[in-house]
Amino acid sequence: MDLFKPMGTQPGQSVDKKKEPEVSERVKCLILGSGPAGYTAAIYAARANLQPVLYTGMQLGGQLTTTTEVENYPGYPEGVDGPAMMEDLKKQAERFGTQVRFGMATRVDFSGRVKKVEIDDTKWIEADAVILATGATARYLGLESEEKFKGSGVSACATCDGFFYRDKVVAVVGGGDTAAEEATYLAGLCRKVYLIVRRDELRASKAMQKRVFHTKNIEILWKHQTKELVGDKVVTGVELYKNKGEAGEEIVHLDIDGFFLAIGHTPNSEVFREFVKTDETGYVITVPGTTKTNVPGVFACGDLQDKVYRQAVTAAGTGCMAAIDAERYLQ
Ligand code: NDP
Repeated sequence: MDLFKPMGTQPGQSVDKKKEPEVSERVKCLILGSGPAGYTAAIYAARANLQPVLYTGMQLGGQLTTTTEVENYPGYPEGVDGPAMMEDLKKQAERFGTQVRFGMATRVDFSGRVKKVEIDDTKWIEADAVILATGATARYLGLESEEKFKGSGVSACATCDGFFYRDKVVAVVGGGDTAAEEATYLAGLCRKVYLIVRRDELRASKAMQKRVFHTKNIEILWKHQTKELVGDKVVTGVELYKNKGEAGEEIVHLDIDGFFLAIGHTPNSEVFREFVKTDETGYVITVPGTTKTNVPGVFACGDLQDKVYRQAVTAAGTGCMAAIDAERYLQ
């Protein structure tokens, strides 16, 4: 085991070991994140003999583990259970020698040629190349009923789950591009789509707004906010606060079968932001057509750098690109 001086210390300087743990390991390729992007990067990196070490993060398997059935991932004609698919991806990565470990990056230092990543506040790992695949987390409203019905009528991905609501009535909450896109997508499948908007205007681009306004089966509920979801085992309705200005507010009930959150995602980039360039919403910026970040030797893939497509298959695709980019960098 290589033992290195903790970062930022000078010879003779005393070190508080709790604050500055020692570097305990040196690896060629370190991958952070265990969604389709991270595991695909691991499969390719392992096959290229980069002996990758992958840290899973807190949500083992990423966002797909909160989905029940995945029907749009190519190669599964009957669909596949989300958690089972992630378990298969993990096994495939391990089969070629990836070390999959539970833990998350708590600090990084990408200032030098050798990259340093602190895991769980306890140890620093040095790596020649780092692949960031920490994904994004869908924002939820924080209601108790929302937790209860996750996977039973509550979803944060229309492309993933919309198909289960064919000819049904659903509600989408949000007023940005995601909400507009998801409402329009669902309108193609569902009988009726309510768009619940907290203000009296949409934040979405004008083009997206136009599509929403011209879709007959979308009804916009301006100045409405969600109070609670209603149902026994599955969602059957939603109660809303309708803001009536000076007249106060009224409680409105809607019968719905599905409730879709589209109030934004938070890319899990906070730990890297001091070194890796992100856009104003925190998505890591990569050189177009590659997974290269502004830091040589640090690559980003999956939802962490993609606010447009956000699909398992696109995440896997960029995971593959990241491993190839890392392999070429290391050469
Ligand atoms: P945004 O942050 O743009 O929009 C979030 C929306 O949710 C806003 O309308 C906001 O309301 C609303 N909202 C937030 N919190 C609550 C809450 N607690 N209750 C009710 N409503 C709430 O997120 P998006 O995911 O829509 O977009 C993120 C980024 O990705 C944007 O830059 C967008 O342009 C981009 N994008 C691009 C796409 C494309 O190019 N095809 C597709 C999707 C996204 P309010 O407006 O009142 O703040």
